[in-house]
Amino acid sequence: MGRQDQGELRFSPEELRRKYAAEREKRLRPDGIAQYRDFAGIFSEDDPYTPRVERLPRHETIDVVVIGGGFGGLLTAAELRKAGIGDFRIVEKAGDFGGTWYWNRYPGVRCDVESYIYLPLLEEMGYEPRERYATGAEILAYCQQIGRRYALYETALFQTAVTEVRWSEKNRRWSVLTDRGDVLDARFVVVAGGVLHKPKLPGIPGIETFAGESFHTSRWDYAVTGGDAGGGLDKLAGKRVGIIGTGATAVQAIPLLAQGAGHLHVFQRTPSGVGERGNATTDRQWYAALAPGWQRERMANFTSITAGQVPDRILVEDGWTDVFLPLVDAAASDPANAAEQRELADMRNMERIRARVDALVDDPVTAEALKPYYHQMCKRPCFHDEYLATFNRPNVTLVDTDGVGVERITPKGVVVGGTEYELDCLIHASGFEVATIQTRRLGFDMIGRAGQSLEASLERGAETLFGLHRLGFPNLFLFSTTQAGASINFVHVLVELAEHAAYVIRKAREQGATTVEPSREATEGWLRIVLSRLQGFGEFQRQCTPGYFNNEGNLGGGVLRNVGFVGDANEYFAMLHEWRAAERMEGLVLTIDAQQEMTR
Ligand code: NDP
Repeated sequence: MGRQDQGELRFSPEELRRKYAAEREKRLRPDGIAQYRDFAGIFSEDDPYTPRVERLPRHETIDVVVIGGGFGGLLTAAELRKAGIGDFRIVEKAGDFGGTWYWNRYPGVRCDVESYIYLPLLEEMGYEPRERYATGAEILAYCQQIGRRYALYETALFQTAVTEVRWSEKNRRWSVLTDRGDVLDARFVVVAGGVLHKPKLPGIPGIETFAGESFHTSRWDYAVTGGDAGGGLDKLAGKRVGIIGTGATAVQAIPLLAQGAGHLHVFQRTPSGVGERGNATTDRQWYAALAPGWQRERMANFTSITAGQVPDRILVEDGWTDVFLPLVDAAASDPANAAEQRELADMRNMERIRARVDALVDDPVTAEALKPYYHQMCKRPCFHDEYLATFNRPNVTLVDTDGVGVERITPKGVVVGGTEYELDCLIHASGFEVATIQTRRLGFDMIGRAGQSLEASLERGAETLFGLHRLGFPNLFLFSTTQAGASINFVHVLVELAEHAAYVIRKAREQGATTVEPSREATEGWLRIVLSRLQGFGEFQRQCTPGYFNNEGNLGGGVLRNVGFVGDANEYFAMLHEWRAAERMEGLVLTIDAQQEMTR
């Protein structure tokens, strides 16, 4: 759909611009991200899935500590194994591998990025995803399979949270301390702690006073709801259930919640744009016939489309590519007016999203409230085939807050517009911290050379090479979005970062280097490249409705140096590939021993 669909306009761009601006205005608030509440003060951050097992602290001297057992950590560890480096440990706060897929087990959980590009290492693993869009359970099981295939379980310290990572100048090693009393003395540390994992709560007055059952979607309490991620929430029968939030998580959970609940109230501040999902079981013949190397090619193809390029051949055609391709086509059709053409194409896309609401939702007032009025990439697009029709059920009520959010929470329920909705169970689908400082989200700081903290360095502005190496933090590899490439398919980024980190560790070891770190010139050179890609960036987001993409509408307050590499992620990956192919470790300083330094 979409590519040639650029017929005559059936809307007034001027009117839509006014409507978008008015909707944005309603939602802007002076407190920005400060509106959210810390999760820990209200709910337990404990792991509800794996009972805690006590163990003695470990004191070990090893080559590498990998922090995080999600895809980033799993991929790094798999790459270390492939490079013949076996002396490493994975430290993971959860009770198993899986990262976000460990914690998020809410009903309906799936990945809406195609499984063929989202699940990494498919060719090496010889694995065939069951469906085009995999369930959370399949992804979690696949993470565990990677853990077994690369013998990672024997290296893992689960249920263990890192509390501090400190550089010792004397030993030229890192000391990784944990909440289990472990002291891991490591030459290298890879931090793959995730990007969207610290749950946040809406800062609604009275949130802590609710007397019924309550939890966040990333700690779903099946003891309260019954059932599992596939549905069958039988303990909610006859119960009054409320859910706050209508983002990507809620869109997946609401259809199954509605089936289980006596009555479901959906409290909405901003509607998501919900396109078709069109899931299907994997065509086994097609899958078996894919030529070796297909997965990386498919990943790169998808990433290039979502970065605004049109490859010679389009390998993934789905809801995501329907978002991006019409914009690229429109801009190409009239390069002199590319920005305007892109805006019109975006408006056409969103008109289709709004028409889909009319087609699927019976009650016109509910339908109108479910229509998103903003540019498509202002908020994360969603794809679901049952979400909208769920609002036709007699036991589902949409409580639209007209952009202002829930007014108050009382012991009995939720207040909107002066009306109290009494509830037995209240679910927060309020998302995760995104724009807060990375050390806060990770839960620990890193203390590098001369006692400087990573937190302080982020407050001043990051100094990195490729976003991965930090000035003053030798032998540290930090996965983040700061000065690094990003893709809608974030696993593609993790695949590339893991390969790069493992390569540098292997090279440093081969050369007998005790330390490897970026030179100041290299970090300055990299910053110039990052900043050169920023032209025009921010203009689009500045006009967007508030959300986590634009720091809740407060762009501009942050530190410019902490920006991501906003160019085409494939260009970023190509730079990493070329750098490795040159075999010169350019920009990194290797210390062979305390006396002898080799600057590349
Ligand atoms: P989001 O941050 O996307 O959504 C939070 C929701 O809570 C929004 O609808 C927000 O409204 C609402 N909210 C916040 N404060 C209030 C308030 N005071 N009153 C009423 N409503 C409020 O979190 P999600 O968990 O849905 O998604 C987070 C991210 O996780 C996604 O963007 C995506 O990257 C990832 N994800 C990916 C999936 C996949 O398939 N790959 C599936 C699910 C999640 P408002 O919009 O107005 O701020």
